[in-house]
Amino acid sequence: MNTPMINRRTFLSQSACLALLPVLGGGLSASAKPPATAAAASVSAFLLPDLGYPFDALEPHIDAETMQIHHGKHHAAYIKGITQALEKSGLQPPPSILELFTKLPEYPESLRTAIRNHGGGHYNHSLFWESMSPTPQALNPEDPLALEITSTFGSAELFRERFSAAAMGRFGSGWAWLIATPDGLTVTSTPNQDNPLMKGAVEAEGIPLLGIDVWEHAYYLKYQNRRADYIQAWWNTVDWSVVSARHAAAVA
Ligand code: MN
Repeated sequence: MNTPMINRRTFLSQSACLALLPVLGGGLSASAKPPATAAAASVSAFLLPDLGYPFDALEPHIDAETMQIHHGKHHAAYIKGITQALEKSGLQPPPSILELFTKLPEYPESLRTAIRNHGGGHYNHSLFWESMSPTPQALNPEDPLALEITSTFGSAELFRERFSAAAMGRFGSGWAWLIATPDGLTVTSTPNQDNPLMKGAVEAEGIPLLGIDVWEHAYYLKYQNRRADYIQAWWNTVDWSVVSARHAAAVA
């Protein structure tokens, strides 16, 4: 397997920002763009991104009520939380939320929990909405990501099993991830709203390519305690054109 010619420092400090911003929407930027929604007007620094599809668009896999509450209440609350924590600290929001994670050790200890919980919540959900589509594209077997998945995990099916097992194995609330690292692709999981960009805070650091939210709020209304059924259904929503673009940017 070819390892991208990148070193660890520039990989996370520069590549992550350059790679992810064009893919993730303006909701992650602290620049003075018009609020995306009326709800976002009350949270000054970071904006709630539009889903890009109606709440019911992912039915029957993910129900409309779950999407509405998840996006409009949970995600919005994370944005409010990180905005208020930064305001209270007197620090300006960085130009990109990614800096909160890649420079986590440089922030005051009093702010780090809010960065992980609320900043992470904003970033993770933004990535999550973008990864799903009512018209998801399959991964072309010739795509560099497909080739790397095969060389790393053995096959697309074995990758899927590994990722689903990570999602099932996360005790309590958290996320499972496919990440790009200087050593190649890795499947990992994080508790709460941690993500693999958080320097010094997680088991495996890297650039998130795909993530699944396994908090009960992501599936309980439709699936109750049946996390496995939710994960199985969620695969039907994954838009591999988005994941492939993240991979291409990450290894460029
Ligand atoms: Mn969530």
